[in-house]
Parts: sequence; structure tokens; C-alpha cells
Amino acid sequence: MSGPEQSGAAWLPFTRPAIDEETIAAVAAVLRSGWLASGPKVAQFEAALSQYLGGRPVRSQTSATAGLEMALLACGIGKGDEVITPALSFVATANVIVRVGARPVFVDVGLASRNIDLEQAEAAITPRTRAILPVHFAGLPLDMERLYAIAARHRLRVIEDAAHAIGSLWAGKRIGSFGDLVCFSFHPNKNITTIEGGAISGGSAEELRAIELHRWHGQVKRAADDFDTLLAGGKCNLSDVAAAVGLGQLEHLEEFNARRRTLVARYFELWAEEPPLRLPQRGDAGHSWHVFTPLLPLGTLSITRGEFIEAMRARGIGVGVHYPAIHLFSAYRALGYRDGQFPNAERIGRETVTLPLFPAMTLADVERVVAAVNAVVRGART
Ligand SMILES: *Cc1c(COP(=O)(O)O)cnc(C)c1O
Repeated sequence: MSGPEQSGAAWLPFTRPAIDEETIAAVAAVLRSGWLASGPKVAQFEAALSQYLGGRPVRSQTSATAGLEMALLACGIGKGDEVITPALSFVATANVIVRVGARPVFVDVGLASRNIDLEQAEAAITPRTRAILPVHFAGLPLDMERLYAIAARHRLRVIEDAAHAIGSLWAGKRIGSFGDLVCFSFHPNKNITTIEGGAISGGSAEELRAIELHRWHGQVKRAADDFDTLLAGGKCNLSDVAAAVGLGQLEHLEEFNARRRTLVARYFELWAEEPPLRLPQRGDAGHSWHVFTPLLPLGTLSITRGEFIEAMRARGIGVGVHYPAIHLFSAYRALGYRDGQFPNAERIGRETVTLPLFPAMTLADVERVVAAVNAVVRGART
């Protein structure tokens, strides 16, 4: 990512991975080892992640998108089935439902929490519903007791999109240390990275077997010369190079998330009174703060969100958008979704801006962002 040339101050992106020298050395060692694809490092990474998640089974893969898709397949979800999911997330959350042949049934989210409205989720259940696929948005955990009570009442499986939530705690328990099938992402923008990668925590013995088959050609090897393919599996196993990055990252996860919480606390402190933006729900110490995403009060401004982003960019500050409402994308309008169905998701989709937040940021960086936002928003008030 490069900044505008006219800016004097250093370019501040909205996110940046933190890779230490030990991890780079560990990657070099794997590259020299003669074994690059899934091997000892993947086994070690899965074991370390399992240990972090209270000993639950963990299966890694090349992305959370692949993990979510395999989790749906492992639950036997396909044609004719419905899966309840929030209208606000990264589009992968819904795409995987369509890809396995099922129908995504969207539900609105809370304006401050950005998490699926569980009352509306329960109301959306039909005889065709097979699963709920919620997101712990930005790392703010859902009400897990209520979520799993709904699932139990209606005999549904829960596939948690925990792409934002590695290290998040609900009632003192780590997300992924309990629950049905919990899918993490290790994309470079997430709280820890394997470059590209993901992992599923949990699952029944049968589901785990299905995930292993879907992950690698559906193949089993019974002896040195005896192979069978039990289903037409895909190919999304993690590499040892990626796993070496993940092992190095996992060692810093608690420290990274603590840093994120400290930086966000400073944002909240500086905007304690009359914030120029609508701040997201603060949550508690269990929030892992994958992204900090206030809403722009566009109704009171003379500029568009695009112009806000440009004005911040001119000040050397990167701003992202997480995310447009999914149901308004062409592929989902084609399924019959339309404007006005999910007002909070639509408003967030229009107004959300992602401000810089990553472990290597300083408190002075936060102050710089706040000063820039204050100047841009105040200068644009009508
Ligand atoms: C990043 C993300 C994904 C997809 O993760 P990948 O590892 O990039 O496939 C899925 N859901 C949400 C909410 C995400 O933010």
C-alpha cells in the first residue's frame, strides 16, 4: 500500500500485519527443509491452536472461505436447505451458502453491535432451515447462550464465522473453545495471519472426517499402494510455510489483541464527548477488536463517504469499508433481495468507515487519526 506523495507525515494504513524476525527465520528454515506443503509444521500449528482453544479438534485450511464451505458440506447442507446469516458481513459469509447450493436467509444486525439480531434470526426459521451462520463482528462475541438455545430449540447446527474473533472471549471462554463448528481466518488483515489460511475448531467425529475428505481430494490411503477416493473432494490444505507463519503469530496473539484494546480505548477516550462519528458498541475486555468501524453522519455532512476517504488519504491516513450490505450486491438481488429489507445493515453499509487499528500503531497515531477525522468532519458540517 502506498500513500499520497503530497503528504509530509508517514502513511498510516488502516491495517498492517506484524511479522517478527523469528517468524521470518522459521519460514526460511521450512523453505530449506525440503518439505513445503502440509507436513510437520501444519500438524504443529493445528496442535498449538487446539491447545489455545482448550483442546478442541482443529483442522486448518487455505482460507476461512474454504473452511466455511467445508463446514456446510460436512453438516450435509445443500440444495433445498436454508441457512440464516447476517445481511452485514464480508460477502464470503453468504457466498459459501450459495456455493453449496443452499439459500442464504438474511437477517438484520444491531446498529451498534453489527451482530445478527437473534430475535429476528429465530423468527426467520422455517422447516427448511438447517443452520445458523452468524459472525462475531469485529470480534464482539454474540450472546452465545441465546444463540445456542435457539439452535437447540429448533435442532439447527451453528457454523460460527469467527474470522474476526480469534482471541475473543464470551463469559470468560475463548470463542472456538466451545460451540459447534467455529471458523477462523488468517488472512493478512485478520488479528493473526498465515498469509492466506483458516481453521475450523470443533465438529463431531463424522464432520471432522468429512472436512478432512473435502480438504484433500476425498482421498484415503490404506496402505502404500492402496488408495481410495470416498467423495469428490477439493484441495485446500495449508502449507508448512504458512503454518510456520501461523506458529510465530500465535505466540503474539494475546499481546496483539491487548494492544488493539489499548488503541481502541484511546479512540473512545478522545471521543468521550460529542464524537463526530457514531462509535460502535464498546463491548467488554473479551472484544478482540479486529476492526474499528464508526459510522459517518452523512445526513449532516456536505461530503460523501468517498470524499471523506479521499480527504483522510490526503492527510496520509488509510480508511477502509467493512462492509457493504450483502443483500444489495447483484448476485443477491438476483435471488430476490432488495433495498429496504434490512435497514441497519443498509445504513451501516452506506456509512461505515474503518479507521486505522493494528498492533504496531502508537497512541500518537490514534491521536493523529482523531485530529484528522475531527477536522474533516467539522469542516464538512452543513
Ligand atoms: C475475512 C473474512 C472471511 C474470509 O476469510 P478468508 O480467510 O479471507 O477466506 C469470512 N468472513 C468474514 C467475516 C471475514 O472478515
